[in-house]
Amino acid sequence: KKHKTKAKKSSAKTSPTNAPQQLTPETGAALFEDARSRLEEVFKALDIHPDAQARLMQPSLSLQVSVPVRMDDGSLKAFPAWRVQYDTSLGPAKGGVRFHPDVNQHEVTTLSFWMAVKCAVVGLPYGGGKGGVQVDAKALSSLERERLARGYIRAIADIMGPDRDIPAPDVNTDATVMGWMIDEYEHILRAQAPAAITGKPLSLGGSPGRVEATGRGALTVLDLWAEREERQPEDTTLAVQGFGNAAYHFARLASQRGYRVVAISDSSGAIYNADGIDVDAAKKDKTQQGKLAKSQQGKALSGDDLLALEVDVLVLAALENQLHRDNVGNVKAGAVLEIANGPLTSDADSALEKRGVPVLPDVVANTGGVIVSYFEWLQNRAGETWKEEEVHQRLDARLGEEAKRVLQRAEKDQVTYRQAAYRQGIERIAEAIMARGNCQ
Ligand code: GLU
Repeated sequence: KKHKTKAKKSSAKTSPTNAPQQLTPETGAALFEDARSRLEEVFKALDIHPDAQARLMQPSLSLQVSVPVRMDDGSLKAFPAWRVQYDTSLGPAKGGVRFHPDVNQHEVTTLSFWMAVKCAVVGLPYGGGKGGVQVDAKALSSLERERLARGYIRAIADIMGPDRDIPAPDVNTDATVMGWMIDEYEHILRAQAPAAITGKPLSLGGSPGRVEATGRGALTVLDLWAEREERQPEDTTLAVQGFGNAAYHFARLASQRGYRVVAISDSSGAIYNADGIDVDAAKKDKTQQGKLAKSQQGKALSGDDLLALEVDVLVLAALENQLHRDNVGNVKAGAVLEIANGPLTSDADSALEKRGVPVLPDVVANTGGVIVSYFEWLQNRAGETWKEEEVHQRLDARLGEEAKRVLQRAEKDQVTYRQAAYRQGIERIAEAIMARGNCQ
């Protein structure tokens, strides 16, 4: 059952179709269609009430704005941006804000839908929300980024708040950006409101343990699965696509636990080391040289070849649409762990299902971040600061329990982990929709 770790030669030549799909308005629309088809599958399987079905097929609020930013050179740029609240039946909308050149309305809508599902899967009193700004944030100076973050909050201030919609970090945004955002929001409000944004710096009411929470949660899910498979970390090799916040902390904690991280990648390329990569040394190289591909911690590999490695678990921790119809056939991993949101298209998902390759899905595996965001929100509302150890324990307990429920349900219902997770989440949302009555 074990898989040896070596790149397959034939996959070394990469055609354009091997590459991850770019997110365009067209693939963005396909992304939302994919999400809806998964929803319809659950409707059928669970006999969800038609009222709830009708409510769940489209986002409840979608705001498009333009954020003008005075650039350092004196010129003005206007960035298109969105905030979408998919459903708020279980509680206020919750979800991150991403800065990325490919962000578009369909993508943000789909991401807000996934947030709704994942908050429900792990039993948080939240609906789903997401925000995005179409911008190459890496090309901005720090002051330009700050003006953009503040401008974004001014544009969405009317629809956010601790009981309405609570932004957080996502791709290319972090605690520093959340610090600017909460400051702007509190200026508008002329009052303190720390619970309006999570993922803040510790000095502004951020929670200990939030930064590594997504990676830590994903490891909890991997551990649970490995335990069920009677598989030891020491005998399990991992290839990790991505080296952002979630991926880095996951890789670091997983190798501490004894898993062998044989490959990691960022947008510059990948590195491979059969003996296991020293994750912190690789991180240092990336910080110093800007690119992971230049790190001496392993030999260079293309990002596409990483996806085709013969490892036990392929960990997708970058962006959406990384495995699709045209490249899923190259995958030789024994299982897939999704830390990014939506890294598989539904074609790729079905192909892996047919081949019997288990997928630990995003809506369970990456919930560590939003769970600790919830703890941050609770601390802010109570005026408390919990110890890091307490945050870790509560995260492990909450996610451990809900993830176990998903794994058991998959077995009981004889469905994939993803289908089981969607059943658990959609069932809870639909119940809340129905409990609110029929007169809305
Ligand atoms: N952006 C993260 C996610 O996709 C965290 C969201 C949050 O903490 O609200 O789950």
